[in-house]
Amino acid sequence: MASEVETALVERYFRHLGSVRTDVVLGIGDDAAVLRAPPGMDLAMTTDSLVEGVHFHPGAAARSLGHRALAVNLSDLAAMGATPGWALLSLSLPAIDDAWLGEFSTGFGLLARSFNVALVGGNLSRGPLNITVQLCGMVQSGTALRRSGARPGHELWVSGTLGDAAAGLQLGSDASGAAASAASATERAWLRARFEYPTPRLALGQALRGIASSCMDLSDGLLADAARLAQASGCGAILQVERLPVSSALRAHEPASSWQRALQGGEDYELCFTAPADQAARLQELAAGLALPLTPCGTLQAAAGLVLRSGSSVIQFSQSPFEHFIS
Ligand SMILES: [Mg+2]
Repeated sequence: MASEVETALVERYFRHLGSVRTDVVLGIGDDAAVLRAPPGMDLAMTTDSLVEGVHFHPGAAARSLGHRALAVNLSDLAAMGATPGWALLSLSLPAIDDAWLGEFSTGFGLLARSFNVALVGGNLSRGPLNITVQLCGMVQSGTALRRSGARPGHELWVSGTLGDAAAGLQLGSDASGAAASAASATERAWLRARFEYPTPRLALGQALRGIASSCMDLSDGLLADAARLAQASGCGAILQVERLPVSSALRAHEPASSWQRALQGGEDYELCFTAPADQAARLQELAAGLALPLTPCGTLQAAAGLVLRSGSSVIQFSQSPFEHFIS
């Protein structure tokens, strides 16, 4: 993209997203941003891309893409117990579309402002639609949450409800799903919003420092991600399927299969964490304070691998047990 065009687009759509923090010494417009990290803090960095046809359907709403591109990175910092600070945005666009850019920067900007994130640089280029955000945050030195601290006997917890986003994604791309659903129009809209506008659990992640023994965010579904968390801690885990938190909207929409959706649906962006059993009361207090359900739904054990249980019986499953749900 010609540099004058890029400069004009940055001025119009993005420069105002850089002025929310006082620790930005030099933001958008120079060769690199200069940031002043406070003493006593470790920096936490992450990056994630949204690629058309891979992470979203062609024609997806630009406002939602702006929100999600930042939200998935905020969720990674939430999983570390970090506080977000500064973002870089690399945007590749097939054509300059002012309406699209306006909506995209609104979706990105509303979420950025609500978490005090400054956009401090990036680049625009012409090409297939691809959105990459890099996010830097901070956490008091030595206190970042990790995946590796769980021990046998610790309980496995999740925030919010699971599976809503995966059902919402399918509802957004398949009109027949809505026709067959017993969920109300309001419930279906809520499921779609759970995919299009996920809420990163930053306050929870920060509060879990000193309580949780390990933590990660759920992007690929609890079944895959809990296995990763347990493995990173050198443990295995038992998941109790009847304890999985499932929303009333998902239950209405998929009465027979909501628990499979909760296990396997991706894009939840809830937190999955472990804690010693004696932290349960403290976690329930935290849930009440944050008005966010926290649910214990499993236990870590020494034996490697993930075991699914319903009541006291073990559910057998293969590598891809619920292929019929993947459309
Ligand atoms: Mg993650």
